[in-house]
Amino acid sequence: MKSNNSVIDTVYDTIIIGGGASGMMAASSISKNKKVLIIEKNNILGKKLLITGGGRCNLTNHELDLRKLLKNYKQAEQFLYSAFTQYSVKDTLDFFNKRNMPTKVEEYGRVFPVSDSARSVYNVLFKELNNRGVEVLSNAKVTNIIHDSKNIDGVEIEINKKKIIYKAKRYILATGGTSHPETGSTGDAFSWLKDMGHCVFEPKASLVPLRSNEAWIKKIQGLALQDIKINLFVDDKKVISKKGKILFTHFGVSGPTILNMSKEIGESLDKKQKVYVGIDIMSGLDHGTLNKTLTDLFQNNPKKKIVNILSELINKNLTSIILQNSKISEDIVGNAVTKEMRIILIENIKNVKINIHGLLDENDAIVSDGGVDLKEIDFKNMKSKIINNLYIIGDLLNIDRPSGGYSLQICWTTGYLAGRE
Ligand SMILES: Cc1cc2nc3c(=O)[nH]c(=O)nc-3n(C[C@H](O)[C@H](O)[C@H](O)COP(=O)(O)OP(=O)(O)OC[C@H]3O[C@@H](n4cnc5c(N)ncnc54)[C@H](O)[C@@H]3O)c2cc1C
Repeated sequence: MKSNNSVIDTVYDTIIIGGGASGMMAASSISKNKKVLIIEKNNILGKKLLITGGGRCNLTNHELDLRKLLKNYKQAEQFLYSAFTQYSVKDTLDFFNKRNMPTKVEEYGRVFPVSDSARSVYNVLFKELNNRGVEVLSNAKVTNIIHDSKNIDGVEIEINKKKIIYKAKRYILATGGTSHPETGSTGDAFSWLKDMGHCVFEPKASLVPLRSNEAWIKKIQGLALQDIKINLFVDDKKVISKKGKILFTHFGVSGPTILNMSKEIGESLDKKQKVYVGIDIMSGLDHGTLNKTLTDLFQNNPKKKIVNILSELINKNLTSIILQNSKISEDIVGNAVTKEMRIILIENIKNVKINIHGLLDENDAIVSDGGVDLKEIDFKNMKSKIINNLYIIGDLLNIDRPSGGYSLQICWTTGYLAGRE
C-alpha cells in the first residue's frame, strides 16, 4: 500500500512544539546560528499570553529574594533552585526592559508592562523570533511524536489527511496544560509523555473562581472590595486567613486571593466538607473599636434609618445584605438599635458568610495543576531524564503556584534554560 506520510527534508536543530509563552521564550534564547522551528496549532502564537492578567499581563512577581520567591512554588521549591539561580525575576525584567518594554510594580509585587497591555509582552517575544530567523509553522497540529525508548525521531502533523513528519536534533515540548482550552491548551502532550515513559500527574483545574448559590451575591455582581480580610472555613474551622481583593460575580466570587484558596477549597469539597468564605469588611477595626464606632454613630443619628447610618461606614451595596444576614430591619432608627442588635451586626460585618458550593471548571481556570513529575527533569536545562533529545517546559510541569505572575515566571525561566541549551 502506498504510504500517506511525507518527511520534510530539513533536519532542524530544534523543534519547539507549542508557541505559547514558554515556547516563544525558548525560541528567543536559542543561539542565532541554529535552525529553529515552532509548530503551533493556532493561527497565531501566544493566544493565552494575550489574555493574561485581564489583557494586561502580570508577567512576573517582583520578589527579588530567591528563597522567598521559591517558597511560593511549595513542593517544587527544591527542584527550581538551580533553574532560578540561572534565570530569575531580575533576568525577566532585564530581558523585557532592555527590549524597550518598561514595567511597573503593583500591589503584592505584581509586575505589568507600563503599557498595561499583554500585546507589549507578545511583541517583544515575536520581534525576537523574527530577529533570530525562527521559522513558525502555524495552523499545524502535532498529532503524534515518533519515538523509541531513548529518543524522539520526529513529530507528525496532519494536514488534509496527509501526515507530514518534521525532524530535529532536539525537541522542546511547550504545549501547556489544560486551562482555558479555547486558547489551544488542550493537554495534548500528556498522553505523548506517558507513552514515552514519563509519569504525569492528572491535570486538574487550579487557581479557579468559586461557585456560590447565595442569592444576594447576584445583586452585587461586579462589585470588587479591595484589601479586606478573607477567611476560609472548612467544617466551621478557620483554615486560611488572607488580606486581598474579592470580586463578586454572577456565579460566585473571584479575585487573586480567592483563586489562591481554590486548591484547598476543591480538595475540601471533594471530601464532602462544608466550606464557606467569611469576609471581614472592617478588618481595620477590632470588635471593641467597631462596637464603639457603631455606638457613637447610632447615638449621633437617633432619628436616621440604620441602613443609611451604616452606609457611612461600609460599602453601600453591602449594608442591606448585612442587615438581612443580621435579621435587622432596614427601617429601624439609630436610637432603637439595642446592644444585642449591635453585637449581631458586628458579627455579620466582621464575618460576611459566603457558602461555597463548587469550583468553576478548566474553561475558567488560570492554570491546571498536575503535569510531568519534576523528578524526571534535569532542572539545569529542562532536559527529560528519560528521552535524550526532549526538553519539557512551562505549564506542562507539575508545579503548584499562586496567582501573581508566578506562572509566567516559570515559563520564562524554563523556556530560557531549554532554549539556551
Ligand atoms: C485567563 C488567564 C489569565 C492568566 N493570567 C496570568 C497572569 O497574569 N500572570 C501569570 O503569571 N500567569 C497567568 N496565567 C497563566 C499563564 O497564562 C500560563 O501559565 C502560561 O500561558 C503557560 O504558558 P505555556 O507556554 O506553558 O502554555 P500555553 O500558553 O498554554 O501555550 C501552549 C501552546 O501550545 C499549543 N499547542 C497545544 N497543543 C498543540 C499541538 N498538539 N500541536 C501544536 N501546538 C499545540 C497551544 O495552541 C498553545 O499556543 C493566566 C492564564 C489564564 C487562562
